[in-house]
Amino acid sequence: MKIEDIIKATDRYNLHSHTQFCDGRFPMEEMAVSAAECRMLYYGFSPHSPICCDSPCNMSRGDVPVYIDEAARLREVYSGRMEVLTSMEIDFISPDFGPHIDYFQKLPLDYRIGSVHFVPTREGVPVDCDGRYERFAGYLKEVFHGDLRYVVEKYFEQVLVMLERGSFEMLGHLDKIAGNASQADPEIESQGWYEALIDDVISHAVGSGVVVEINTKAYEEKKRFFPAERWWHKLISAGVPLAINSDAHYRDRIDSGRSQALALLNSKTM
Ligand SMILES: [Zn+2]
Ligand SMILES: [Zn+2]
Repeated sequence: MKIEDIIKATDRYNLHSHTQFCDGRFPMEEMAVSAAECRMLYYGFSPHSPICCDSPCNMSRGDVPVYIDEAARLREVYSGRMEVLTSMEIDFISPDFGPHIDYFQKLPLDYRIGSVHFVPTREGVPVDCDGRYERFAGYLKEVFHGDLRYVVEKYFEQVLVMLERGSFEMLGHLDKIAGNASQADPEIESQGWYEALIDDVISHAVGSGVVVEINTKAYEEKKRFFPAERWWHKLISAGVPLAINSDAHYRDRIDSGRSQALALLNSKTM
């Protein structure tokens, strides 16, 4: 079943989650148990993909076959109750490394999530701008010379190039950089140039065939979604299919923030 059909058929799905194979905190088996307890009908595993630079959050290439086997085993275990799907959250690093490269296209995945976490410096060195604000603030000062606008523009440029290259089914947390960028400058999302970047991403997503994710991972703690609620009307009026995912790293957060996002989305589309 295509993910676009899944999200049309039911809201009992979560298509973005992490486990012991990357920076998730629980084994796949425990995540599957929790997903079934949450009455999920479709549950997708999506470890952070192997990448071309050092990263403690990403899985190694050597683990990929083990991961694929374990997902297949769990698919059997839950057959008839919950459809277990095998995916990967693939980092776009540069035009030479992203969801479109042969390596990822040849993996036996049910679908691919394309996400940007790394922003290249002016010298082309990828820097992980996701994660804790304190670390981001350090990189902003030391590595990006305090140029927040450069970081934000470069992040969205990466998203745009990834969309142009295509070869993935779901766009992960399209404005994730806003989490850290808005801590550095709380007004950043109100700037005209920022909104123009969002519009550009949405216009690239339209007609690309990708499902755009509404990521609820930060809702419980920070009361924000990715993309931010302020942009949802643009996605809705553009007719982009939207999937609500918790991006769970913990077994008790599989459904976290999803009902709130769903209620909000329904109120905007009615
Ligand atoms: Zn991510
Ligand atoms: Zn994720």
